[in-house]
Amino acid sequence: MIPAKGIAAHSSSTPLVPYTFERREPMANDVVIDIKFCGICHSDIHQARNEWGHSSYPMVPGHEIAGIVTRVGPGVSKYTIGDHVGVGCFVDSCRECEHCKAALDQYCLQGHTQTYNDVERDRKTRTQGGYSNVIVVNEDYVMKISKKIPLDKAAPLLCAGITLYSPLNHWKTGPGKKIGIMGLGGLGHMGVKIARAMGAEVFVLSHSEKKREDAIKMGAHHFLPTHDKSIFQKHANSFDLIINTVSSADLLMHEYFSLLKLDATLVSVGAPDKPLSISPFPLILMRRNYAGSVIGSIKETQEMLDFCAEHGITPEIEVIKPDQVNEAYDRVLKNDVRYRFVIDMTKL
Ligand code: NAP
Ligand code: ZN
Repeated sequence: MIPAKGIAAHSSSTPLVPYTFERREPMANDVVIDIKFCGICHSDIHQARNEWGHSSYPMVPGHEIAGIVTRVGPGVSKYTIGDHVGVGCFVDSCRECEHCKAALDQYCLQGHTQTYNDVERDRKTRTQGGYSNVIVVNEDYVMKISKKIPLDKAAPLLCAGITLYSPLNHWKTGPGKKIGIMGLGGLGHMGVKIARAMGAEVFVLSHSEKKREDAIKMGAHHFLPTHDKSIFQKHANSFDLIINTVSSADLLMHEYFSLLKLDATLVSVGAPDKPLSISPFPLILMRRNYAGSVIGSIKETQEMLDFCAEHGITPEIEVIKPDQVNEAYDRVLKNDVRYRFVIDMTKL
């Protein structure tokens, strides 16, 4: 076994604290990664605090992992020592179902194995995430990070980046398309940068007027403050796609649906702990679609990392030390993050 250090939640209501545990001895196709940086996703907070109701403890959160390969098993062919690599939200899947075979492993019919707060495919060994100094992962679930992207800035791409890239890609974002991003947080700000690079006209729909300047600097063409109800009339029936990244269910969804064109789609990626309230009428009246999307496949995550390296897309980050994690959680909840916290795991 490989000794590991990390930061763990021991219950839904206590702060995260230092924790020592063990990673598995690498198997033939495993890569050992020295973790350098790990982003803080709002999903980490939902799970550390058991807001989705399936948390088990002790839990080392973290699924925006960037590091360097230090060891490879004898069967590894894709990676060598010294490679810059990333690990995202899942570390395994069944590999046999039609979705896994079609490179849609995020939708594995047997359920993918989450990077933390889950069990390995042996159904016994608990997974632990990236708020730690080392991780052992099968090479098929590891992505290569171009040395053009510094590792601290690469980390948030592994969840925030791919969670927006995948629906933008699936719903064919490109020139001539009017795209709305609801919520300018960790996910939302990546959506702005990626949709802009794909050539779309990008609108931010935000409840924080103070983020206007940042949104425009990031590449949004327009900033629509959602407290100003006139925006919903002015832009009615005009959007091709809207992506909802908001972490709260406190939203008047009919207002956002009214912005969609005939047949256009609103995709929820935000995963609040309470249900959204939705009336079918705005969907019925303009044959609009309401959809969801979860992260992206391993193949698509690699494609997104290469796209970001090629287009010079990186997140806006604030690097913190491991002992600042609890304070960072509080700041995320107060909407006081510009725009992703990244933990320097070398300071553990
Ligand atoms: P975040 O950085 O906290 O951003 C969330 C944004 O939502 C905030 O910046 C804010 O934007 C908006 N918001 C927050 N509270 C609000 C409220 N009461 N009313 C209206 N808007 C509010 O979180 P994140 O890391 O981007 O994650 C966002 C959500 O996506 C979380 O629920 C997370 O679990 C989920 N998620 C889903 C996937 C997936 O695969 N589907 C992947 C990762 C994360 P404004 O200030 O601009 O309004
Ligand atoms: Zn995440």
